[in-house]
Amino acid sequence: MFIDTHCHLHDPKLPDTDAVVNAYLRDGVDTVINMGCCAATSIGGKLLAEKYPSVYFATGCHPSDVETFDDTEFNKIAELTSHPKCVAVGEIGLDYYWKPFDKDKQEKAFVKQIELAKESKLPICIHNRDATGDMLKILKDHKDKLVYGGVMHCYAGSVETAAELLKLGLYISFAGPLTFKNARSLLEVAAFVPCDRCLTETDSPFLAPHPLRGTVNEPKNVAITTAFLANLKGIELTEFAAILKNNAKRLFYKMK
Ligand SMILES: [Zn+2]
Repeated sequence: MFIDTHCHLHDPKLPDTDAVVNAYLRDGVDTVINMGCCAATSIGGKLLAEKYPSVYFATGCHPSDVETFDDTEFNKIAELTSHPKCVAVGEIGLDYYWKPFDKDKQEKAFVKQIELAKESKLPICIHNRDATGDMLKILKDHKDKLVYGGVMHCYAGSVETAAELLKLGLYISFAGPLTFKNARSLLEVAAFVPCDRCLTETDSPFLAPHPLRGTVNEPKNVAITTAFLANLKGIELTEFAAILKNNAKRLFYKMK
């Protein structure tokens, strides 16, 4: 019934993939989308998707991994887009938190992969950390390339920024931080974003939701964040999970 739209199953913090997959299937998560951070992890996602029916994957270079983003790396990432279980280009974007960073290189990689998404008819999964101004500018400048839409993953911004993203046709994805005790401004965003534009995710193995905060996160915990959001929206959980599943299928249209 649940879908985790953003996780990293290949992360070394989740060494036993069979156990992780069995745990989420048992807890009602029937679909997960594994994100790529570079060519190697994107290929890793492909192998997981070929092994587990419940796993789909995205291919892309994370802004914190652009140091190694050259033509060879790009071609490997691009090649994966035609795979039947590759449902998005991601995660891509800007990250000015982890230092040092190269703004110019990040922007070039971001734009190149936005173009890749258009050419390969896929939506994008966007990562943004401490770069909201530049990120919005790039998205607006390349609005014509966002034909297949996209999602702002692990949303942590303001209501105003969320409004801009919705105007661009993008979805807003909520992760564990929505459930944190200090998440007051995110609660306003969650109330503001219409149900048909919401998604949930775990970003496993990071950002475990309350009350598991600080532990290794797993896709099964998307149920916690989804229940939290359903409660905020005043919608019964099964019904709300079905709405989110429909949203995901609309955006990640290659999913069966
Ligand atoms: Zn991620």
